[in-house]
Amino acid sequence: MPLPNEVWICDECRTTHYAKIDTCVNCGMAKLVRFVPAAKTSPLRTIRKSHNLSQKALAELTGLKQPNLSRIEHGLTRPRFTTVAKLAVALNISVGELASQLSREGTAK
Ligand SMILES: [Zn+2]
Repeated sequence: MPLPNEVWICDECRTTHYAKIDTCVNCGMAKLVRFVPAAKTSPLRTIRKSHNLSQKALAELTGLKQPNLSRIEHGLTRPRFTTVAKLAVALNISVGELASQLSREGTAK
């Protein structure tokens, strides 16, 4: 799935929009922040690759949906703690380590 060149993320509820609109489709706030996804490789992707897991395989291991995983890898969405915990178990690293790696990732402000 190709990543769009730019997306708009709601500063209120973090919903991602793939087209420029005035208000968030989720919460109706006019707080959309333009975000250009970073081209750099995300830490999660690097760790996943080091385990020779495809995105699909990791999605199956964690019970996450692949599109969500993709968004996390691209820094478009900040995963909940429970999601980080599932990923950490699947990737055999500590939750703290994974959380700190992900927090260094470029997310929208
Ligand atoms: Zn919103």
